[in-house]
Amino acid sequence: QQDNFKQVIAHAKEYGYIFSSSEIYDGLSAVYDYGQNGAELKKNIKEYWWKSMVQLHDNIVGLDAAILMHPTTWKASGHVDAFNDPLIDNKDSKKRYRADVLVEDYAEKINQKAQKEIAKARKRFGDKFDEEEFVNTNPRVIRYKKEEKEILERLAKSLTNEDLADVKALIEELGIACPESGSKNWTDVKQFNLMFGTKLGASADSATDLYLRPETAQGIFVNFANVQKTGRMKIPFGIAQIGKAFRNEIVARQFIFRQREFEQMEMQFFVRPGEELTWFEKWKETRQKWHESLGLGKENYRFHDHEKMAHYANAATDIEFNFPFGFKELEGIHSRTDFDLKAHEKHSGKKLQFFDPEMNKNYVPYVIETSIGLDRMFLAVFSSSLQEEELEGGTTRTVLKLPAILAPYKAAILPLVKKDGLPEIAQELLDDLKWDFNVTYDEKDAVGRRYRRQDAAGTPFCITIDHDTKEDKQVTVRNRDTMEQKRIPMAEVKAMLAKEVDF
Ligand code: ATP
Repeated sequence: QQDNFKQVIAHAKEYGYIFSSSEIYDGLSAVYDYGQNGAELKKNIKEYWWKSMVQLHDNIVGLDAAILMHPTTWKASGHVDAFNDPLIDNKDSKKRYRADVLVEDYAEKINQKAQKEIAKARKRFGDKFDEEEFVNTNPRVIRYKKEEKEILERLAKSLTNEDLADVKALIEELGIACPESGSKNWTDVKQFNLMFGTKLGASADSATDLYLRPETAQGIFVNFANVQKTGRMKIPFGIAQIGKAFRNEIVARQFIFRQREFEQMEMQFFVRPGEELTWFEKWKETRQKWHESLGLGKENYRFHDHEKMAHYANAATDIEFNFPFGFKELEGIHSRTDFDLKAHEKHSGKKLQFFDPEMNKNYVPYVIETSIGLDRMFLAVFSSSLQEEELEGGTTRTVLKLPAILAPYKAAILPLVKKDGLPEIAQELLDDLKWDFNVTYDEKDAVGRRYRRQDAAGTPFCITIDHDTKEDKQVTVRNRDTMEQKRIPMAEVKAMLAKEVDF
Protein backbone atom coordinates (compact mmCIF):
# COMPACT_ATOMS: atom_id res chain seq x y z
CA GLN A 1 0.00 0.00 0.00
CA GLN A 2 2.75 2.39 0.98
CA ASP A 3 4.55 1.65 -2.30
CA ASN A 4 1.37 2.21 -4.20
CA PHE A 5 0.97 5.60 -2.53
CA LYS A 6 4.54 6.57 -3.38
CA GLN A 7 3.86 5.66 -6.97
CA VAL A 8 0.76 7.88 -7.01
CA ILE A 9 2.78 10.84 -5.73
CA ALA A 10 5.62 10.26 -8.19
CA HIS A 11 3.24 9.84 -11.12
CA ALA A 12 1.34 13.02 -10.20
CA LYS A 13 4.59 14.94 -10.43
CA GLU A 14 6.01 13.25 -13.52
CA TYR A 15 2.87 13.93 -15.56
CA GLY A 16 2.37 17.54 -14.47
CA TYR A 17 -0.52 16.99 -12.08
CA ILE A 18 0.84 18.04 -8.69
CA PHE A 19 4.03 19.77 -7.52
CA SER A 20 5.14 20.77 -4.02
CA SER A 21 4.49 24.45 -3.47
CA SER A 22 7.55 26.67 -4.06
CA GLU A 23 9.58 23.58 -4.80
CA ILE A 24 12.76 25.47 -5.77
CA TYR A 25 12.86 26.63 -2.13
CA ASP A 26 12.40 23.03 -0.95
CA GLY A 27 8.63 23.31 -0.71
CA LEU A 28 6.22 24.40 1.98
CA SER A 29 4.81 21.67 4.14
CA ALA A 30 1.23 20.56 3.40
CA VAL A 31 0.87 23.08 0.55
CA TYR A 32 0.76 21.96 -3.10
CA ASP A 33 0.53 23.42 -6.60
CA TYR A 34 -1.46 21.90 -9.43
CA GLY A 35 0.46 21.62 -12.69
CA GLN A 36 -0.70 21.89 -16.30
CA ASN A 37 -2.68 18.63 -16.20
CA GLY A 38 -3.71 18.95 -12.57
CA ALA A 39 -5.28 22.36 -13.19
CA GLU A 40 -7.43 20.82 -15.95
CA LEU A 41 -8.47 17.80 -13.91
CA LYS A 42 -9.34 20.02 -10.98
CA LYS A 43 -11.37 22.36 -13.17
CA ASN A 44 -13.24 19.40 -14.67
CA ILE A 45 -14.10 17.99 -11.22
CA LYS A 46 -15.42 21.41 -10.22
CA GLU A 47 -17.53 21.62 -13.37
CA TYR A 48 -18.90 18.13 -12.88
CA TRP A 49 -19.95 19.01 -9.33
CA TRP A 50 -21.32 22.43 -10.23
CA LYS A 51 -23.35 21.11 -13.14
CA SER A 52 -24.89 18.31 -11.05
CA MET A 53 -25.58 20.48 -8.04
CA VAL A 54 -26.53 23.87 -9.54
CA GLN A 55 -27.44 23.48 -13.20
CA LEU A 56 -29.47 20.29 -12.77
CA HIS A 57 -31.33 21.45 -9.66
CA ASP A 58 -33.96 24.14 -10.25
CA ASN A 59 -33.84 25.12 -6.61
CA ILE A 60 -30.09 25.43 -6.07
CA VAL A 61 -28.13 28.56 -6.95
CA GLY A 62 -24.45 29.44 -6.72
CA LEU A 63 -22.43 31.91 -4.69
CA ASP A 64 -18.85 33.14 -4.62
CA ALA A 65 -18.21 34.75 -1.24
CA ALA A 66 -14.91 36.31 -0.16
CA ILE A 67 -12.27 34.41 1.78
CA LEU A 68 -11.94 37.26 4.28
CA MET A 69 -15.02 37.77 6.43
CA HIS A 70 -16.03 40.00 9.32
CA PRO A 71 -14.33 38.57 12.43
CA THR A 72 -17.63 38.22 14.31
CA THR A 73 -18.57 35.50 11.79
CA TRP A 74 -16.18 33.11 13.51
CA LYS A 75 -17.44 33.93 16.98
CA ALA A 76 -21.00 33.20 15.83
CA SER A 77 -20.05 29.99 14.02
CA GLY A 78 -18.23 28.66 17.07
CA HIS A 79 -14.85 28.48 15.34
CA VAL A 80 -13.13 30.86 17.75
CA ASP A 81 -14.09 28.73 20.73
CA ALA A 82 -14.48 25.25 19.38
CA PHE A 83 -12.44 24.71 16.21
CA ASN A 84 -9.84 22.71 18.01
CA ASP A 85 -7.91 19.57 17.34
CA PRO A 86 -6.67 17.36 20.17
CA LEU A 87 -2.87 17.23 19.94
CA ILE A 88 -0.38 14.96 21.59
CA ASP A 89 3.43 15.11 21.60
CA ASN A 90 5.79 12.22 21.73
CA LYS A 91 8.34 12.96 24.44
CA ASP A 92 11.20 11.08 22.76
CA SER A 93 10.86 12.10 19.12
CA LYS A 94 9.41 15.54 20.02
CA LYS A 95 6.97 15.04 17.16
CA ARG A 96 3.42 16.33 17.41
CA TYR A 97 0.38 14.32 16.31
CA ARG A 98 -3.37 14.63 16.21
CA ALA A 99 -4.51 12.29 18.94
CA ASP A 100 -7.76 11.39 17.18
CA VAL A 101 -5.93 10.60 13.94
CA LEU A 102 -3.51 8.28 15.76
CA VAL A 103 -6.46 6.32 17.15
CA GLU A 104 -8.32 6.34 13.82
CA ASP A 105 -5.24 5.04 12.00
CA TYR A 106 -4.96 2.25 14.55
CA ALA A 107 -8.62 1.34 14.00
CA GLU A 108 -8.11 1.45 10.23
CA LYS A 109 -5.29 -1.09 10.54
CA ILE A 110 -7.71 -3.46 12.25
CA ASN A 111 -10.20 -2.86 9.47
CA GLN A 112 -7.50 -3.68 6.92
CA LYS A 113 -7.01 -7.04 8.64
CA ALA A 114 -10.71 -7.76 8.21
CA GLN A 115 -10.53 -6.69 4.56
CA LYS A 116 -7.61 -9.08 4.02
CA GLU A 117 -9.64 -12.00 5.39
CA ILE A 118 -12.53 -11.05 3.11
CA ALA A 119 -10.26 -10.81 0.07
CA LYS A 120 -8.69 -14.20 0.89
CA ALA A 121 -12.12 -15.83 1.17
CA ARG A 122 -13.28 -14.22 -2.06
CA LYS A 123 -10.30 -15.75 -3.84
CA ARG A 124 -11.00 -19.14 -2.28
CA PHE A 125 -14.75 -19.30 -2.98
CA GLY A 126 -14.81 -17.48 -6.31
CA ASP A 127 -18.27 -16.92 -7.75
CA LYS A 128 -19.95 -18.62 -4.80
CA PHE A 129 -18.64 -16.04 -2.35
CA ASP A 130 -21.35 -14.32 -0.31
CA GLU A 131 -19.58 -11.40 1.36
CA GLU A 132 -22.41 -10.48 3.69
CA GLU A 133 -22.73 -13.98 5.04
CA PHE A 134 -18.98 -14.31 5.46
CA VAL A 135 -18.72 -11.02 7.37
CA ASN A 136 -21.55 -12.09 9.69
CA THR A 137 -20.25 -15.58 10.42
CA ASN A 138 -16.46 -15.62 10.25
CA PRO A 139 -15.21 -15.36 13.85
CA ARG A 140 -12.04 -13.49 12.94
CA VAL A 141 -13.80 -10.88 10.86
CA ILE A 142 -16.45 -10.47 13.55
CA ARG A 143 -13.75 -9.89 16.14
CA TYR A 144 -11.89 -7.34 14.01
CA LYS A 145 -15.06 -5.43 13.17
CA LYS A 146 -16.12 -5.38 16.82
CA GLU A 147 -12.73 -4.18 17.94
CA GLU A 148 -12.65 -1.42 15.32
CA LYS A 149 -16.15 -0.27 16.26
CA GLU A 150 -15.44 -0.23 19.99
CA ILE A 151 -12.32 1.87 19.53
CA LEU A 152 -14.05 4.41 17.30
CA GLU A 153 -17.04 4.63 19.64
CA ARG A 154 -14.86 5.23 22.64
CA LEU A 155 -12.89 7.89 20.76
CA ALA A 156 -16.11 9.58 19.64
CA LYS A 157 -17.45 9.61 23.17
CA SER A 158 -14.29 11.09 24.64
CA LEU A 159 -14.15 13.79 21.95
CA THR A 160 -17.81 14.69 22.35
CA ASN A 161 -17.34 15.02 26.10
CA GLU A 162 -14.03 16.82 25.55
CA ASP A 163 -12.49 14.27 27.84
CA LEU A 164 -8.89 14.66 26.71
CA ALA A 165 -7.52 12.52 29.53
CA ASP A 166 -9.53 9.61 28.20
CA VAL A 167 -8.19 10.14 24.67
CA LYS A 168 -4.70 9.82 26.13
CA ALA A 169 -5.75 6.78 28.17
CA LEU A 170 -7.08 5.17 24.99
CA ILE A 171 -3.78 5.73 23.17
CA GLU A 172 -1.90 4.17 26.08
CA GLU A 173 -4.26 1.21 26.46
CA LEU A 174 -4.01 0.41 22.76
CA GLY A 175 -0.22 0.72 23.01
CA ILE A 176 -0.06 3.09 20.05
CA ALA A 177 3.54 3.91 19.22
CA CYS A 178 4.94 7.07 17.66
CA PRO A 179 4.95 6.36 13.89
CA GLU A 180 8.33 8.06 13.65
CA SER A 181 10.32 6.59 16.52
CA GLY A 182 8.25 3.69 17.83
CA SER A 183 8.26 5.24 21.29
CA LYS A 184 5.14 5.08 23.49
CA ASN A 185 6.14 7.95 25.74
CA TRP A 186 3.30 10.48 25.24
CA THR A 187 2.45 13.86 26.77
CA ASP A 188 -1.05 14.90 27.77
CA VAL A 189 -3.54 15.79 25.03
CA LYS A 190 -4.03 19.53 24.41
CA GLN A 191 -6.41 21.54 22.23
CA PHE A 192 -5.11 23.69 19.38
CA ASN A 193 -7.12 26.14 17.26
CA LEU A 194 -6.79 25.56 13.53
CA MET A 195 -7.66 28.99 12.17
CA PHE A 196 -5.07 31.07 10.32
CA GLY A 197 -4.93 34.63 11.60
CA THR A 198 -4.14 37.65 9.48
CA LYS A 199 -4.44 41.45 9.74
CA LEU A 200 -6.59 43.98 7.95
CA GLY A 201 -5.08 47.47 7.66
CA ALA A 202 -1.55 48.81 7.53
CA SER A 203 -0.57 50.30 10.86
CA ALA A 204 -0.02 48.00 13.77
CA ASP A 205 -2.33 49.77 16.24
CA SER A 206 -5.32 50.26 13.96
CA ALA A 207 -5.16 46.82 12.34
CA THR A 208 -8.04 44.41 12.86
CA ASP A 209 -7.45 40.73 13.46
CA LEU A 210 -9.04 38.57 10.81
CA TYR A 211 -9.06 34.89 9.96
CA LEU A 212 -8.72 33.16 6.62
CA ARG A 213 -11.95 31.18 6.38
CA PRO A 214 -11.57 27.59 7.61
CA GLU A 215 -14.70 26.55 5.68
CA THR A 216 -16.76 28.08 2.88
CA ALA A 217 -20.11 27.40 4.59
CA GLN A 218 -20.22 30.61 6.63
CA GLY A 219 -20.09 32.73 3.47
CA ILE A 220 -23.34 31.03 2.50
CA PHE A 221 -25.05 31.54 5.86
CA VAL A 222 -24.29 35.25 6.09
CA ASN A 223 -25.69 35.68 2.56
CA PHE A 224 -28.81 33.62 3.22
CA ALA A 225 -31.19 36.59 3.22
CA ASN A 226 -29.49 38.31 0.25
CA VAL A 227 -29.83 35.28 -1.98
CA GLN A 228 -33.28 34.29 -0.74
CA LYS A 229 -34.72 37.75 -1.36
CA THR A 230 -32.97 38.73 -4.59
CA GLY A 231 -33.38 35.24 -6.08
CA ARG A 232 -36.96 35.01 -4.73
CA MET A 233 -36.08 31.54 -3.49
CA LYS A 234 -38.67 29.41 -1.73
CA ILE A 235 -37.94 26.78 0.90
CA PRO A 236 -36.66 24.19 0.22
CA PHE A 237 -33.69 25.63 -1.68
CA GLY A 238 -29.93 25.41 -1.70
CA ILE A 239 -26.86 27.62 -2.14
CA ALA A 240 -23.70 26.07 -3.55
CA GLN A 241 -20.17 27.36 -3.48
CA ILE A 242 -16.68 26.28 -4.48
CA GLY A 243 -13.74 28.01 -2.87
CA LYS A 244 -10.56 27.99 -0.87
CA ALA A 245 -10.43 27.24 2.83
CA PHE A 246 -7.45 27.36 5.19
CA ARG A 247 -6.58 25.29 8.24
CA ASN A 248 -3.40 25.27 10.21
CA GLU A 249 -3.28 21.49 10.21
CA ILE A 250 -0.72 19.95 12.50
CA VAL A 251 -0.55 16.56 10.90
CA ALA A 252 0.87 17.59 7.57
CA ARG A 253 1.11 14.36 5.65
CA GLN A 254 -0.80 12.18 3.23
CA PHE A 255 -0.07 14.44 0.27
CA ILE A 256 -3.07 16.54 -0.88
CA PHE A 257 -5.42 14.68 1.50
CA ARG A 258 -4.72 17.06 4.37
CA GLN A 259 -3.46 20.46 3.28
CA ARG A 260 -3.20 23.85 4.93
CA GLU A 261 -4.76 25.55 1.90
CA PHE A 262 -7.42 23.57 0.08
CA GLU A 263 -10.71 23.88 -1.76
CA GLN A 264 -14.18 22.85 -0.72
CA MET A 265 -17.32 22.27 -2.75
CA GLU A 266 -20.16 22.92 -0.36
CA MET A 267 -23.91 23.14 -0.63
CA GLN A 268 -26.24 24.30 2.13
CA PHE A 269 -29.85 23.22 1.65
CA PHE A 270 -32.47 25.17 3.61
CA VAL A 271 -35.59 23.27 4.72
CA ARG A 272 -38.62 23.52 7.00
CA PRO A 273 -37.91 22.71 10.65
CA GLY A 274 -38.91 19.11 11.31
CA GLU A 275 -38.24 18.00 7.72
CA GLU A 276 -34.48 18.00 8.03
CA LEU A 277 -33.97 14.29 8.61
CA THR A 278 -35.96 13.36 5.50
CA TRP A 279 -33.81 15.75 3.47
CA PHE A 280 -30.68 14.41 5.14
CA GLU A 281 -31.51 10.93 3.82
CA LYS A 282 -32.31 12.34 0.37
CA TRP A 283 -29.01 14.13 0.14
CA LYS A 284 -27.11 11.06 1.28
CA GLU A 285 -28.67 9.17 -1.58
CA THR A 286 -28.16 11.94 -4.15
CA ARG A 287 -24.52 12.33 -3.27
CA GLN A 288 -23.95 8.59 -3.36
CA LYS A 289 -25.39 8.51 -6.89
CA TRP A 290 -23.11 11.38 -7.90
CA HIS A 291 -20.08 9.42 -6.80
CA GLU A 292 -21.28 6.23 -8.47
CA SER A 293 -21.87 8.07 -11.75
CA LEU A 294 -18.12 8.57 -12.09
CA GLY A 295 -17.44 4.84 -12.07
CA LEU A 296 -14.52 4.80 -9.64
CA GLY A 297 -15.81 1.51 -8.22
CA LYS A 298 -18.62 1.08 -5.71
CA GLU A 299 -16.38 -1.02 -3.49
CA ASN A 300 -14.13 2.01 -2.97
CA TYR A 301 -16.83 3.86 -1.05
CA ARG A 302 -18.42 3.39 2.34
CA PHE A 303 -20.72 5.43 4.55
CA HIS A 304 -19.69 6.08 8.09
CA ASP A 305 -22.51 7.40 10.23
CA HIS A 306 -21.22 9.58 13.00
CA GLU A 307 -21.47 8.84 16.63
CA LYS A 308 -19.29 11.88 17.22
CA MET A 309 -21.43 14.88 16.36
CA ALA A 310 -20.18 18.43 15.94
CA HIS A 311 -21.81 20.96 18.25
CA TYR A 312 -24.19 22.14 15.51
CA ALA A 313 -25.43 18.84 14.08
CA ASN A 314 -28.28 16.40 14.78
CA ALA A 315 -27.25 13.84 12.15
CA ALA A 316 -24.00 13.35 10.29
CA THR A 317 -22.39 10.91 7.94
CA ASP A 318 -19.06 10.69 6.16
CA ILE A 319 -18.65 9.29 2.70
CA GLU A 320 -15.34 7.50 2.97
CA PHE A 321 -13.11 6.52 0.07
CA ASN A 322 -10.52 3.81 -0.21
CA PHE A 323 -7.44 6.04 -0.59
CA PRO A 324 -3.99 4.46 -1.03
CA PHE A 325 -3.66 4.63 2.79
CA GLY A 326 -7.07 3.13 3.57
CA PHE A 327 -10.67 4.31 3.96
CA LYS A 328 -10.83 7.99 4.97
CA GLU A 329 -13.31 10.83 4.84
CA LEU A 330 -13.93 12.28 1.40
CA GLU A 331 -17.22 14.09 1.96
CA GLY A 332 -19.30 15.06 4.97
CA ILE A 333 -23.09 15.33 5.03
CA HIS A 334 -24.48 17.08 8.06
CA SER A 335 -27.85 18.07 9.35
CA ARG A 336 -26.78 21.40 10.87
CA THR A 337 -30.17 22.30 12.37
CA ASP A 338 -30.81 26.07 12.66
CA PHE A 339 -27.59 26.49 14.62
CA ASP A 340 -25.71 28.74 12.17
CA LEU A 341 -28.54 31.04 11.07
CA LYS A 342 -29.71 31.48 14.69
CA ALA A 343 -26.17 32.26 15.83
CA HIS A 344 -25.75 34.86 13.08
CA GLU A 345 -29.14 36.40 13.99
CA LYS A 346 -27.97 36.71 17.55
CA HIS A 347 -24.58 38.26 16.75
CA SER A 348 -25.72 40.56 13.93
CA GLY A 349 -29.13 41.57 15.23
CA LYS A 350 -30.52 40.92 11.70
CA LYS A 351 -33.39 38.56 10.94
CA LEU A 352 -32.40 35.47 8.95
CA GLN A 353 -35.83 33.98 8.48
CA PHE A 354 -38.19 32.82 5.79
CA PHE A 355 -41.88 33.64 5.52
CA ASP A 356 -43.52 30.40 4.49
CA PRO A 357 -46.77 31.27 2.66
CA GLU A 358 -48.17 27.76 3.03
CA MET A 359 -47.66 27.74 6.78
CA ASN A 360 -48.35 31.45 7.03
CA LYS A 361 -45.46 32.02 9.41
CA ASN A 362 -41.82 33.03 9.75
CA TYR A 363 -39.14 30.61 10.80
CA VAL A 364 -35.39 30.12 10.80
CA PRO A 365 -34.79 27.32 8.27
CA TYR A 366 -32.96 24.11 9.11
CA VAL A 367 -29.93 23.20 7.04
CA ILE A 368 -28.54 20.10 5.39
CA GLU A 369 -24.95 20.50 4.28
CA THR A 370 -23.00 18.46 1.74
CA SER A 371 -19.31 19.27 1.90
CA ILE A 372 -16.65 17.65 -0.22
CA GLY A 373 -12.97 18.49 -0.44
CA LEU A 374 -12.03 19.18 -4.05
CA ASP A 375 -8.45 18.09 -3.44
CA ARG A 376 -9.56 14.88 -1.74
CA MET A 377 -11.85 14.16 -4.68
CA PHE A 378 -8.88 14.80 -6.96
CA LEU A 379 -6.82 12.28 -4.99
CA ALA A 380 -9.69 9.76 -5.04
CA VAL A 381 -10.05 10.05 -8.82
CA PHE A 382 -6.32 10.08 -9.51
CA SER A 383 -5.27 7.25 -7.19
CA SER A 384 -8.05 4.87 -8.16
CA SER A 385 -7.44 5.54 -11.86
CA LEU A 386 -3.72 4.80 -11.79
CA GLN A 387 -3.18 1.19 -12.78
CA GLU A 388 -0.34 -1.08 -13.73
CA GLU A 389 -1.62 -3.52 -16.35
CA GLU A 390 -0.16 -6.80 -17.51
CA LEU A 391 -0.33 -7.18 -21.26
CA GLU A 392 -0.09 -10.19 -23.50
CA GLY A 393 3.51 -11.19 -24.03
CA GLY A 394 4.48 -10.43 -20.43
CA THR A 395 4.91 -6.67 -20.78
CA THR A 396 3.18 -4.11 -18.59
CA ARG A 397 1.82 -0.64 -19.13
CA THR A 398 1.02 2.22 -16.77
CA VAL A 399 -2.39 3.66 -17.50
CA LEU A 400 -4.32 6.46 -15.84
CA LYS A 401 -7.93 5.44 -16.42
CA LEU A 402 -9.53 8.78 -15.56
CA PRO A 403 -13.24 9.07 -16.27
CA ALA A 404 -13.24 10.58 -19.78
CA ILE A 405 -15.37 13.50 -18.67
CA LEU A 406 -12.69 14.51 -16.15
CA ALA A 407 -9.57 13.84 -18.24
CA PRO A 408 -7.41 16.93 -18.94
CA TYR A 409 -7.07 16.14 -22.64
CA LYS A 410 -9.91 14.32 -24.36
CA ALA A 411 -7.78 13.27 -27.31
CA ALA A 412 -4.23 13.37 -28.64
CA ILE A 413 -3.81 13.94 -32.36
CA LEU A 414 -0.85 12.00 -33.74
CA PRO A 415 0.56 12.12 -37.27
CA LEU A 416 2.09 8.70 -37.96
CA VAL A 417 5.25 10.34 -39.31
CA LYS A 418 6.65 13.87 -39.26
CA LYS A 419 6.47 14.26 -43.05
CA ASP A 420 4.43 13.66 -46.21
CA GLY A 421 1.88 16.29 -45.22
CA LEU A 422 0.59 14.25 -42.25
CA PRO A 423 1.44 16.90 -39.58
CA GLU A 424 -0.54 19.44 -41.60
CA ILE A 425 -3.65 17.25 -41.65
CA ALA A 426 -3.26 16.58 -37.93
CA GLN A 427 -2.92 20.29 -37.24
CA GLU A 428 -6.06 21.01 -39.25
CA LEU A 429 -8.03 18.43 -37.24
CA LEU A 430 -6.67 19.87 -34.00
CA ASP A 431 -7.65 23.41 -34.98
CA ASP A 432 -11.16 22.22 -35.69
CA LEU A 433 -11.55 20.22 -32.46
CA LYS A 434 -10.02 22.69 -30.05
CA TRP A 435 -13.07 24.96 -30.03
CA ASP A 436 -15.05 22.19 -28.34
CA PHE A 437 -12.48 19.99 -26.60
CA ASN A 438 -9.14 20.26 -24.91
CA VAL A 439 -6.95 18.28 -27.32
CA THR A 440 -3.20 17.86 -27.62
CA TYR A 441 -0.71 17.17 -30.40
CA ASP A 442 2.29 14.85 -30.35
CA GLU A 443 4.62 13.95 -33.22
CA LYS A 444 7.74 12.84 -31.33
CA ASP A 445 8.89 9.17 -31.20
CA ALA A 446 7.31 6.03 -32.62
CA VAL A 447 3.54 5.92 -32.39
CA GLY A 448 3.57 3.03 -29.88
CA ARG A 449 5.58 5.12 -27.44
CA ARG A 450 3.25 8.04 -27.95
CA TYR A 451 0.29 5.78 -27.10
CA ARG A 452 2.01 4.75 -23.85
CA ARG A 453 2.70 8.36 -22.98
CA GLN A 454 -0.95 9.31 -23.47
CA ASP A 455 -2.06 6.22 -21.49
CA ALA A 456 0.03 7.35 -18.55
CA ALA A 457 -1.16 10.94 -18.84
CA GLY A 458 -4.81 9.82 -18.83
CA THR A 459 -5.87 10.83 -22.36
CA PRO A 460 -8.88 8.65 -23.29
CA PHE A 461 -8.40 8.72 -27.10
CA CYS A 462 -5.53 8.83 -29.54
CA ILE A 463 -6.35 9.82 -33.11
CA THR A 464 -3.74 8.84 -35.66
CA ILE A 465 -3.35 10.31 -39.12
CA ASP A 466 -1.55 8.01 -41.57
CA HIS A 467 -0.84 7.90 -45.31
CA ASP A 468 -4.24 6.35 -46.09
CA THR A 469 -5.92 9.34 -44.44
CA LYS A 470 -4.90 11.41 -47.44
CA GLU A 471 -6.92 9.10 -49.71
CA ASP A 472 -9.85 7.84 -47.64
CA LYS A 473 -10.21 10.76 -45.18
CA GLN A 474 -10.32 8.25 -42.31
CA VAL A 475 -8.35 8.21 -39.05
CA THR A 476 -7.51 5.52 -36.50
CA VAL A 477 -9.07 6.01 -33.09
CA ARG A 478 -7.40 4.15 -30.23
CA ASN A 479 -9.23 3.66 -26.95
CA ARG A 480 -7.02 4.10 -23.86
CA ASP A 481 -8.78 1.49 -21.73
CA THR A 482 -9.43 -1.32 -24.21
CA MET A 483 -6.50 -0.43 -26.52
CA GLU A 484 -8.88 -1.23 -29.38
CA GLN A 485 -8.36 0.62 -32.61
CA LYS A 486 -10.93 1.43 -35.22
CA ARG A 487 -11.05 3.53 -38.33
CA ILE A 488 -13.66 6.24 -38.63
CA PRO A 489 -14.15 9.15 -41.01
CA MET A 490 -12.27 12.25 -39.90
CA ALA A 491 -15.52 14.17 -40.19
CA GLU A 492 -17.05 12.02 -37.44
CA VAL A 493 -14.34 12.55 -34.82
CA LYS A 494 -16.09 15.50 -33.23
CA ALA A 495 -19.39 13.66 -32.81
CA MET A 496 -17.59 10.59 -31.46
CA LEU A 497 -15.78 12.68 -28.83
CA ALA A 498 -18.96 14.51 -27.90
CA LYS A 499 -20.67 11.20 -27.25
CA GLU A 500 -17.81 9.67 -25.29
CA VAL A 501 -16.94 12.59 -23.04
CA ASP A 502 -20.46 13.88 -22.51
CA PHE A 503 -21.93 14.61 -19.08
P1 ATP B 1 -10.86 15.59 8.86
O1 ATP B 1 -11.58 14.89 9.97
O2 ATP B 1 -10.28 14.66 7.84
O3 ATP B 1 -9.89 16.62 9.33
P2 ATP B 1 -13.10 17.33 8.80
O4 ATP B 1 -14.14 16.45 9.36
O5 ATP B 1 -12.45 18.35 9.66
O6 ATP B 1 -11.97 16.43 8.06
P3 ATP B 1 -14.95 19.01 7.41
O7 ATP B 1 -14.76 20.14 8.34
O8 ATP B 1 -16.21 18.23 7.49
O9 ATP B 1 -13.68 18.04 7.49
O10 ATP B 1 -14.70 19.55 5.93
C1 ATP B 1 -15.43 19.09 4.81
C2 ATP B 1 -14.53 18.47 3.77
O11 ATP B 1 -13.43 19.32 3.47
C3 ATP B 1 -13.91 17.16 4.20
O12 ATP B 1 -14.77 16.08 3.96
C4 ATP B 1 -12.67 17.09 3.35
O13 ATP B 1 -12.96 16.51 2.08
C5 ATP B 1 -12.29 18.54 3.14
N1 ATP B 1 -11.15 18.89 4.01
C6 ATP B 1 -11.18 19.21 5.32
N2 ATP B 1 -9.96 19.51 5.78
C7 ATP B 1 -9.12 19.38 4.72
C8 ATP B 1 -7.72 19.56 4.54
N3 ATP B 1 -6.94 19.95 5.54
N4 ATP B 1 -7.19 19.34 3.32
C9 ATP B 1 -7.96 18.95 2.29
N5 ATP B 1 -9.28 18.77 2.39
C10 ATP B 1 -9.88 18.98 3.58
